[in-house]
Amino acid sequence: MAATVLNMAFNQCSRRVQPLRRAYFSGCGGIAAAAAAARSACTRSPNFSGRICSSYREISTEIFEPAQSGRASGSDLHTFDVVVVGAGIIGLTIARQFLLGSNLSVALVDAAVPCAGATGAGQGYIWRVNKSPGSHKWELAVRSHGLWEALAESVRNEGLDPLQTLGWKKTGSLLVGKTSEDCADLKKSVDKLVDFGVSAVYLNRDDLLAEEPALKLGDAHGAAFVPGDFQIDAKRTVAYIEKGNRKFAAEGRYVEFYYEPVTSLLRDESSGEVVAVQTKKNMIRGKKAVIIATGCWTGSVMDQLLKDSEIDLDFPVKPRKGHLLVLDNDNTVELNHALMESGYLNHASAAGVSAASDSDATSISMTATLDPMGRLVLGSSRQLVGFDTEVDETIVQRIWDRAGDFFPALKEVSLQDMIDNRKVRVGLRPYMPGGAPKIGPVPGFPKMFVVAGHEGEGLTLALGSAEMIFDMTLGNTPRVDAEPFSM
Ligand SMILES: Cc1cc2nc3c(=O)[nH]c(=O)nc-3n(C[C@H](O)[C@H](O)[C@H](O)COP(=O)(O)OP(=O)(O)OC[C@H]3O[C@@H](n4cnc5c(N)ncnc54)[C@H](O)[C@@H]3O)c2cc1C
Repeated sequence: MAATVLNMAFNQCSRRVQPLRRAYFSGCGGIAAAAAAARSACTRSPNFSGRICSSYREISTEIFEPAQSGRASGSDLHTFDVVVVGAGIIGLTIARQFLLGSNLSVALVDAAVPCAGATGAGQGYIWRVNKSPGSHKWELAVRSHGLWEALAESVRNEGLDPLQTLGWKKTGSLLVGKTSEDCADLKKSVDKLVDFGVSAVYLNRDDLLAEEPALKLGDAHGAAFVPGDFQIDAKRTVAYIEKGNRKFAAEGRYVEFYYEPVTSLLRDESSGEVVAVQTKKNMIRGKKAVIIATGCWTGSVMDQLLKDSEIDLDFPVKPRKGHLLVLDNDNTVELNHALMESGYLNHASAAGVSAASDSDATSISMTATLDPMGRLVLGSSRQLVGFDTEVDETIVQRIWDRAGDFFPALKEVSLQDMIDNRKVRVGLRPYMPGGAPKIGPVPGFPKMFVVAGHEGEGLTLALGSAEMIFDMTLGNTPRVDAEPFSM
């Protein structure tokens, strides 16, 4: 290893180079046993305001301390095997995968907390009915679906109720068509799903009405139905995964750094390897990997982190705003399954975005389900309006009106009357042109990986994505072809 570390984001600033004289173990409580063994060798530099662990000496005998950089004084160094940046469902499940699947230590770093991003808004459908068998995402979707089922099973084996713990409900999935054209397409999809081993059926109007009597249906209505699809509650699931991850804190393998936006990267000067991330308070070193999982912020995070590098890397993820309306449901609408109108597929696709300019790319399509509390969850909207997360009442009204087209009982109630009994969830889906997330190494930046861009499927694809990056990092034989997701 070279003797210096390049602090990329600050390398425009004037620097003071200070030799490490003594180090001092930071006592972060989360560094692996191996690091603990190094404590005794730690010394502290009297002139360096941060505390530096001796294991850092492997990579640095000199520390660049930018004079006017804005880097916080008192910056601690923590060393882990893997640093995961972003604690949405993607970052959390990546951390979980490393903790359960290896003996590596993990730091999870977030600008805020796990449900601050898209994850807290998600409807929770873990579906196959809306996927295209044989497409580039199919294998990952099926793998991930199976991993979610296994997770629900392991919750049951712990003596816990998956409904209470994860909001896990085997609702089945109904993709509803409104025209004969839609229905012809749905029949073809069902045939394809069956060919690929998924138990799926096409329901004509009468069959659909028997399943969901609350629907108002015309003659041309029909639905694709996958009884084995299910939903989770994102907040309950996040709480469960977080709790599981924290069990590893006691053995020094896991630390969360919340409310700490990552501001810069540190690279080894000679090898170019990414060795650490810097927050305002801490420098967090990843010996094996630094994994960026910052959802729709990944483009700006990468720009910030790589801005001083000579490598030009465009990560074109965009925030795609979505609203969901959650209503106390005094039996206004009884639902037996979770639903989505088939037009949703066009809205979610890449074509839906590229065909329209940013301003007119707003779309509303009906989704409806009951959450674990029995509340009616209605969706959803898609807008490309930057990073704005304000509730837009005109969008909420359009979601309500759209739901009323399918559930006449809602037409008898005014949304205004529900004002005290409603919540609106807003989140920014990480939309990636091409429609597939990026999962893999960042070209030109050894030991740095990215997992982002899951748009409206991040909950569905989380466990498979986590497994994929885990396998890549450790050089394991891939369980799913990663090629469609490479950068
Ligand atoms: C209305 C709506 C409904 C949805 N319904 C479904 C559904 O039914 N099924 C499904 O599968 N998916 C659904 N999704 C999509 C799903 O919620 C997302 O794909 C998923 O949550 C993305 O997860 P993520 O971890 O990539 O991003 P996020 O949850 O956005 O997490 C990114 C994290 O990065 C952090 N961060 C940002 N910048 C920094 C920085 N500089 N340093 C450190 N941390 C940083 C943020 O604070 C945030 O916590 C829905 C989304 C919306 C909005």
